[in-house]
Amino acid sequence: MAQTLDLAWALDWLRRSGAVLAENRMALIELDRAIGDADHGENMDRGFTAALAKLEEQPPATPGAALKSVAMSLMSKVGGAAGPLYGTAFLRAATALGDAEELDSEALVAALAAARDGIVARGKAEPGDKTMIDAWTPAVDAAQAAVGESPAELLDRAAKAAEEGAAATEPLVARKGRASYLGERSAGHRDPGSQSTALLLRAAADAAAAAS
Ligand code: ADP
Ligand code: MG
Repeated sequence: MAQTLDLAWALDWLRRSGAVLAENRMALIELDRAIGDADHGENMDRGFTAALAKLEEQPPATPGAALKSVAMSLMSKVGGAAGPLYGTAFLRAATALGDAEELDSEALVAALAAARDGIVARGKAEPGDKTMIDAWTPAVDAAQAAVGESPAELLDRAAKAAEEGAAATEPLVARKGRASYLGERSAGHRDPGSQSTALLLRAAADAAAAAS
């Protein structure tokens, strides 16, 4: 089992993310139709399509540079709440990685925590507000608890925690973002951003499993 992940992993992760977001475009639209404005699937698909095109055009030299490029694409191409939030997440993760070429489990934990902290700094959501933070926070907790494990194992546990966190948003009443306008009527539906977060982290774990 590999003890570090590299640029090839980062690029594979981002390509898998683009593919899984394209596949889940309608599913994310339907989740957002129930408690928002039915654009989350379109926002994420458009953002990652643009991000992947940019990575082809200007190939990055390190994993951090790849994440920074994605951050810039998401911030410029995705409107709504999710663009700036994911843009901040990718930018903070890029900063945490710096110019490292090989990422060990500690580096991955630091990047995941920085991403989550960036989303909180930008959106001010707390756990239980029915946002993407409800997927990110358990993922970061699981990653921190798995820091002695290989990167692939750590990412698998983080992805599992994000998937459980996304499912656990279903009964919650939204207190942040567009869904909060619905009040009690937001209960009974999964938060779309928590679902896209779970998809992104599962793609990271799948790319790590394929690399090792
Ligand atoms: P918009 O709400 O502007 O239409 P999207 O539909 O693309 O944008 O994204 C909605 C998702 O953004 C929500 O499902 C939620 O997970 C996330 N979100 C919204 N506001 C916040 C916030 N303040 N903090 C964290 N996440 C948020
Ligand atoms: Mg929306």
